[in-house]
Amino acid sequence: MTKTKIYYDDINLDFLKNKTIAILGYGNQGRAHALNLRDSKLNVIVAQRPKGYNYNKAIEDGWKPLSISKAVKQSNFISILLPDEVQKKVWENDIKPNIKKGDILSFAHGFNIRFKQIIPTPDLDVIMIAPKGPGHLVRKQYEEGRGIPCLIAIEQDISGKAKNFALAYAKAIGGTLAGVLETTFAEETETDLFGEQVVLCGGLVELINSGFETLIQAGYQPEIAYFECLYEIKFIIDLILKNGFSGMNRSISNTAEYGEYINGKKIITENTKKRMKKILNNIQSNKFANNWLKENKSSSMVFLEKERSRINKRLIEKIGAKLRSKMNI
Ligand code: NDP
Ligand code: MG
Repeated sequence: MTKTKIYYDDINLDFLKNKTIAILGYGNQGRAHALNLRDSKLNVIVAQRPKGYNYNKAIEDGWKPLSISKAVKQSNFISILLPDEVQKKVWENDIKPNIKKGDILSFAHGFNIRFKQIIPTPDLDVIMIAPKGPGHLVRKQYEEGRGIPCLIAIEQDISGKAKNFALAYAKAIGGTLAGVLETTFAEETETDLFGEQVVLCGGLVELINSGFETLIQAGYQPEIAYFECLYEIKFIIDLILKNGFSGMNRSISNTAEYGEYINGKKIITENTKKRMKKILNNIQSNKFANNWLKENKSSSMVFLEKERSRINKRLIEKIGAKLRSKMNI
């Protein structure tokens, strides 16, 4: 066992009592952070560009959304909750000209610091509070008196209190109810990119789809293949989250468990692991980030659009849409 320190509830919120926290962006994370911080009795202002769904949502939730430059001027804790690929431009145009010596600059993911897209001036505290879950759950868990685990990291600490600020913010959004771990911008960024590419999104989506296609190509009914390879994932994941692999194995049949041991390793082989290592190397060497930043230089995101339409056309998506429309999910 490692000796990783995990912070739970012995954290002092007072470090943020005299701060004005500007939430830049009212999207997935922005809305959740803003509402949780407000419910934790902290001073919060919201920056959200006008028109559109998120602006209306902010108004509905009782905020008076400001421009980013105004919000930066009126605050001393700036939480950037904009898409990673737009942060550099917004930093240069709206944040850097307005941020003041001694302010706290905060991120929810380390991408722009790790890959040197944003180079903050040395007179700022630079911190990260990264929830390990999507925004709607950061909000929902908080409302239910629980939390999503968070990672915190300190890049610059001119106040000497940067860690206290990060822990207090993590507590105020509910993170300490589940556990808060300290990391670095590099570790958070590299592990986050690896997780989403290899396991959570890239690996999982292709695993599900390949299982589904194998069954229908063998002549089985697509609806049955959908339930088997996609729908039931949620139940298995819930069991693993609650009780670990052994606990999940206790809940499934002995037949399922026997098949798991016989065939799991034939699907994920030593070769698969070698490819995982290669993907990790590409993340560590900046190759992945450079390609992604190149994609963003084109205004139309050609590759993303092409892939989105490829996925949309898959049979599993059509069958799924039909089945979900009748299910209360
Ligand atoms: P979203 O895409 O949900 O939110 C985007 C917000 O930024 C919206 O309010 C949007 O406004 C605004 N915005 C987008 N482009 C611009 C622009 N050019 N100028 C001004 N405002 C703009 O982002 P997320 O919440 O997903 O991500 C925010 C941060 O949180 C990222 O660093 C991400 O890595 C991190 N994170 C995200 C997680 C997640 O589950 N989504 C999990 C953990 C961390 P509009 O509505 O007008 O477009
Ligand atoms: Mg992640």
